[in-house]
Amino acid sequence: MRPSLLNPLFAAITTLPGIGPRLEKLYRRLFGRDEPARVLDLLFHLPTGAIDRRARPKLSDVVPDTVVTVAVTVDRHRPPPPYRPRVPYQIYTSDETGDLTLTYFNARRDYLQKLLPVGERRYVSGTVELYDHMRQMVHPDRVVAEADLAKLPLVEPVYPLTEGLSLNQVRKAADAALARLPDFPEWQETSWVARERFPSFADALRLLHRPAEPADLRPEGLAWTRLAYDEFLAGQLALALVRAHLRRPAGRATPGTGHIRKKLIETLPYSLTPSQGRAIAEIVADLAKPERMLRLLQGDVGSGKTVVALLAAAAVIEGGRQAALMAPTEILARQHFNTIVPLAAVAGINVAILTGRERGRERNAILEKLAFGDIHVLIGTHALFQEQVEFRDLALALVDEQHRFGVHQRLALAKKGEAVDVLVMTATPIPRTLVLTYFGDMDISELREKPAGRQPIDTRTIPLGRLEEVIGAAGRALAEGRRVYWVCPLVEVTENADFAAAEERFAALKERFGTMVDLVHGRMKGDDKDRAMAHFAAGDTRLLVATTVIEVGVDVPEATVMVIEHAERFGLAQLHQLRGRIGRGGEHSTCLLLYKPPLGETAKARLNILRETEDGFRIAEEDLRLRGEGDVLGTRQSGLPGFRVARVETHGKLIGAARDDAALVLSRDPTLASSRGQALRQLLYLFERDEAIRLIRAG
Ligand code: ADP
Ligand code: MG
Repeated sequence: MRPSLLNPLFAAITTLPGIGPRLEKLYRRLFGRDEPARVLDLLFHLPTGAIDRRARPKLSDVVPDTVVTVAVTVDRHRPPPPYRPRVPYQIYTSDETGDLTLTYFNARRDYLQKLLPVGERRYVSGTVELYDHMRQMVHPDRVVAEADLAKLPLVEPVYPLTEGLSLNQVRKAADAALARLPDFPEWQETSWVARERFPSFADALRLLHRPAEPADLRPEGLAWTRLAYDEFLAGQLALALVRAHLRRPAGRATPGTGHIRKKLIETLPYSLTPSQGRAIAEIVADLAKPERMLRLLQGDVGSGKTVVALLAAAAVIEGGRQAALMAPTEILARQHFNTIVPLAAVAGINVAILTGRERGRERNAILEKLAFGDIHVLIGTHALFQEQVEFRDLALALVDEQHRFGVHQRLALAKKGEAVDVLVMTATPIPRTLVLTYFGDMDISELREKPAGRQPIDTRTIPLGRLEEVIGAAGRALAEGRRVYWVCPLVEVTENADFAAAEERFAALKERFGTMVDLVHGRMKGDDKDRAMAHFAAGDTRLLVATTVIEVGVDVPEATVMVIEHAERFGLAQLHQLRGRIGRGGEHSTCLLLYKPPLGETAKARLNILRETEDGFRIAEEDLRLRGEGDVLGTRQSGLPGFRVARVETHGKLIGAARDDAALVLSRDPTLASSRGQALRQLLYLFERDEAIRLIRAG
């Protein structure tokens, strides 16, 4: 149960004065929420800047085009002539040093006469500009009488807005929300707070929404940093609790005999790279321990994660238990299946696949064999979480392309067995700071080097205007017997008619090159997709027009050319993933990035980085720098928790401290029962990591 102290913050935003259902919809849009907007959401909606109204010059000293607050006397009103409403309403004012004209368009006369009565003194704040050598202010931001001067906010925050919501409305609402802030107990260690000179959580929010200086709003300032640290601590505490919970029903030791692994290794047409060997050793050691494994296998595209997964599976199968391998798409699941089956057969491992497509009798047969333990490895998509799927004795969950799955799904798979060991694999090299952020103190194995014999990929950028040349080059590659991917951003022509449609490109290329051209895209039926991929893998077709369905994990080592149309529309990580589909064999590969000029700065930087490097770790760091943390992990698709106030670029260096702090807290007070523990529970609620609290109860 949420502490009642927090209720006013979790109340609907409509409980604030002046916000009804219509505005609530706009706030929902502003916060990007599907569910009703709450007071808390508004408090975490931080200003992006501030207007500084502190300059109070005499009119003769006003610097044009700056924001000032001036004291003027109202001399004369000049309303527009009758029936000429387009002519502005002007008000002439002055001080002892000069004149200032206030200009209003479409203004209500009675309103202005009340606001600026002739002969009175008023404080007017806004931007002064010179118009025909005359000072004028168009629509002053603020006009107050002397008596109300104290109410004029001299440093006024500016919020991100959405159409239909004005700055004033959001400011007023934020004021009302601040008034709901209760007195929280301090949940941070008091000595640390004192040393860092952090304001309290509530004061930090007050300072950010009501800055005294524009500098108060800087993300690296004390207020913002305090909130960021709070958010990190909440995240790290939640992760530590999840981890403790996962480990609690002490894992089962699954020592392997090594005989199946030996057979597999002998069957492989290559020898393992040193980092593959190391990763397998680390995993096997984890499996042999009575503690649960929670390990991340990081390896750039093409680094050979699949075989590591298979050998890990072999180790548990040697112990008479089962493994599951979950992939994010059906294409990938089938590809894993097709790669693994021939190897597994030699070693006597039974492998089956389960996706949304296996239905009826076929599906029942799979489920039955699985429950009997006749299937040793089950490969599939999220269909693996379904209730009817029961293993005889699941020991190891292998989750491929982790960042596409949410934390919940990962946990759901782990529940399919008793004390299941979990190995998650990601092809997006995640910068270290983000690993800590999202996975906490998960153990990590890295595949740093690519398998031997790989050639560098020659990457070039070419404007779309030279499409004909590119088609010619593709034709020459085909004539040499090479295989070509041709990637288009979208499946069909949308409202934006210049999108290169895969269907259209397919038709055009087919006309040119005939039946060796094929098409695969996300709207196709599973069977048709498989068929297209299989034909391409077998070399029956040699130019495959595709959408990003080939982005993740698809493995056709013979493909050596990739054309990406409208490369400027893809993110850096995505381009890197796509390009990773080529350069997988011993042949020289070429990647042509077609872009539509003119390129924006960021797009240019992205394409340049790709030309410069194939190092996935470097690309991930650059991506983080260019686009912020959300995109690196594909937070949107995956449902991974993002940050509300922390910014990884600015505050990321605090994550390590928050992690240590969380570990220390839980080592002293594992159930968060002490008074600081109780305060920390409130922190978990505030940042909506409270699911972790339930794990304490359950344990
Ligand atoms: P990813 O890490 O992207 O999932 P894969 O597991 O799909 O990479 O492996 C990419 C390709 O490299 C596959 O064709 C695989 O057979 C091959 N491969 C894996 N390990 C090695 C190795 N040690 N030596 C040579 N080729 C390897
Ligand atoms: Mg893979």
